[in-house]
Amino acid sequence: MKYNEFDPSLIVTHYGENPEECFGAVVPPIYQNSLNVYPNVETYLNGGDDKHPYVYMRVSNPTIRLAEEKLAKLEHADDCLCFASGMAAISSATLACVKSGDHIVSVNSCYGPQHSFMENYLARFGVTVTFVAGDKPEDFFEATQENTVMYYLESPTSIYFQLQDLEAIAKFAKAHNIFTLIDNSWASPIYQNPIDFGIDAVLHSASKYLGGHSDIVAGILCGNQEFIDRVRGQERSLLGGILHPQQAFLLTRGLRTLPIRMKNHQENAMKVAQFLENHPKVRRVHYPGLESHPQHELAAKQMRGYSGLMSFELWTEDREEILAFLNRLEWFQFGCSWGGHESLALPMTINASKEQLEREGVSNSVIRISIGHEGAQTLIADLENSLEQIKK
Ligand SMILES: *Cc1c(COP(=O)(O)O)cnc(C)c1O
Repeated sequence: MKYNEFDPSLIVTHYGENPEECFGAVVPPIYQNSLNVYPNVETYLNGGDDKHPYVYMRVSNPTIRLAEEKLAKLEHADDCLCFASGMAAISSATLACVKSGDHIVSVNSCYGPQHSFMENYLARFGVTVTFVAGDKPEDFFEATQENTVMYYLESPTSIYFQLQDLEAIAKFAKAHNIFTLIDNSWASPIYQNPIDFGIDAVLHSASKYLGGHSDIVAGILCGNQEFIDRVRGQERSLLGGILHPQQAFLLTRGLRTLPIRMKNHQENAMKVAQFLENHPKVRRVHYPGLESHPQHELAAKQMRGYSGLMSFELWTEDREEILAFLNRLEWFQFGCSWGGHESLALPMTINASKEQLEREGVSNSVIRISIGHEGAQTLIADLENSLEQIKK
């Protein structure tokens, strides 16, 4: 079969698969074995051969490998590793980049647990971090020290949806021998491939869009061969955070529909964002797909599309009004995480201090919504009904 292996639709449906290897099964089976055996002891002592490349599940496994091969292609990377959670991938990749005495520059509004891992946990090992707003590339350059070894990016960020200029930051980093890591969970590889802009390695919480059905927790790391081989042999094996094959099977099944799911998230989210932007009870919408987004031009340059997660602020700052607005919603459920079939809503700043709100330039009414697949008309009607009942 001949096909363009950079076509996401063909990667998710066929790439890396050969039914002949498994009795013609159209869906590759779940290999759920902790160890592999060999025809003779010499093959084992030689570390296997072409027919026996697998040793032990904590190191690698065919079911996990299939998801990795597809995801490496989707991210335009040499190779990929699956982890037991997004945080397992993120902390392992971060540890692979630093040693005692090193310094990191990170975007300030990165995923909270990673913020804490860099700031608090790594401090125990003498690693320091400077957090920057990151919407101007100069933020990174100016915070760079002699001992800076890594830039940590997340673009867009997942509460206020601020972007970093991937090309400019990667170019400066390369010239100064600084490794660049990015969390690409929001855009998914369907809408953004940071490696094309010179970023060294890409992380995802596969618990979000890649899995897509709110039924797995998983993480992935994509990058060049040297880096991935090193993390496979060191951090993933030594810390032991590999994904389980059953979860890898669900991840591959989720990937089958990634291109069409992302298209649907985008179409519905754009309609919802435009509706919210024009509603008199809404003060501001944070969504990079809108032309009114302060970095829309950069978004259009480095992304091919927009996903289904956004936030907005109400005019009201009355706590009871904000909570009542949320509680009136019928189709949006309340829970953390995002990227599944179901729409979700959460107040993000209702308990924030005055200083925090001032620093971010937002009110206490920031509401984050994840647009699922219920349909834009249904979700807009739900939001409209609840917005109209806000008194102030
Ligand atoms: C959820 C999330 C993570 C962490 O992923 P887990 O799979 O929950 O460990 C990392 N980054 C972003 C942007 C996330 O939303």
